[in-house]
Amino acid sequence: MSREEVIASSNVDPAERERFDRLAASWWDPEGESRPLHDLNPARLRFVRERCDLDGAAVIDIGCGGGILSEALASCGAQVTGIDVAPRALAVARLHLHESGLEVRYRESTAEQHAELEPASADVVTCMEMLEHVPDPQSVIDACAALLKPGGQAFFSTINRTPAAFALAIVGAEHLARLLPVGTHRYDRFIRPSELTAALRQAGLEPRAVTGLHYNPLTRTARVGGGVKVNYLVHAAKPGSLRPTHRTP
Ligand code: SAH
Repeated sequence: MSREEVIASSNVDPAERERFDRLAASWWDPEGESRPLHDLNPARLRFVRERCDLDGAAVIDIGCGGGILSEALASCGAQVTGIDVAPRALAVARLHLHESGLEVRYRESTAEQHAELEPASADVVTCMEMLEHVPDPQSVIDACAALLKPGGQAFFSTINRTPAAFALAIVGAEHLARLLPVGTHRYDRFIRPSELTAALRQAGLEPRAVTGLHYNPLTRTARVGGGVKVNYLVHAAKPGSLRPTHRTP
C-alpha cells in the first residue's frame, strides 16, 4: 500500500498529519510553536519515572512528533521506539539524534499498524498530547493495550472537554497568547477523564492514576497534581505478571 492508501484506510486525520508536518522546523525550538511541549516535558517525564523503571525498558512512544519525549525517555536508559504518521516530523526527530547523541528507533506508522507488527513487545507505552488529534481514540488505546507485555505500563496525557479547557487551551493559548497556531486543538476532540478511563477498561487496562498537569506559560513551568479541568495525565497497567524492566548487570 502507498503512504496515501495507508493514511486513507486508517485512524488518521490527514489535516492533523499536515499540521504536525508543517511544524517540522520548529519542533526543537524551545521558543517556537512546540514551546508548550518543551515546557511540559520535565513534569510528564517525572510522572512516568516515578511510576516505572525506565532503565533498559522497551518503550513505545506513540505520536512521538519531533521526539521531545522519546529522547527524554531514551536519556533515562529506555530503549525507545517512536512512531508517528507525520514523515517530516520523523525526519526532524532522526536528525536531532545526531545532535543529542541518543538512540531512538523511529517508524512511520499508526499505533494500530505497529500493534499488528509487534504485539506484546513493550514494557511501557507513552501516548502524550496525541489522543486529542485522532478520530477514534479508543482504537489507539486498544493498540496501546495490544503493544504492552502483560504487566506493562501505559501513560497518556490529553486535554479535558470543559469550559476551562476551551478558555485556556483554545482561546487563551491559540487566540490570545498565540502560544500555539490557531486550529491546533478542536474542542470536540477533547476527552473527559471518565471517557478515557472507560476506554482504558474497555481495552483491558487498569487505570492506576489520573492527575492534573498544570502549565503556567508565564513561568514556563508545569506541575503534576491537583485538578483535571484542563491538561491531565493518566497511568494504566496491563494485568499480568510484572516483568522486570531493568537490565540485569
Ligand atoms: N507526543 C509528542 C508530540 C505531540 S503532537 C510530544 O508530546 O512531545 C501530536 C503528534 O501526534 C503529532 O506528531 C502527530 O503527527 C501525531 N499523530 C496525529 N495523529 C496520529 C495517528 N493517528 N497516529 C500516530 N500519530 C499521530
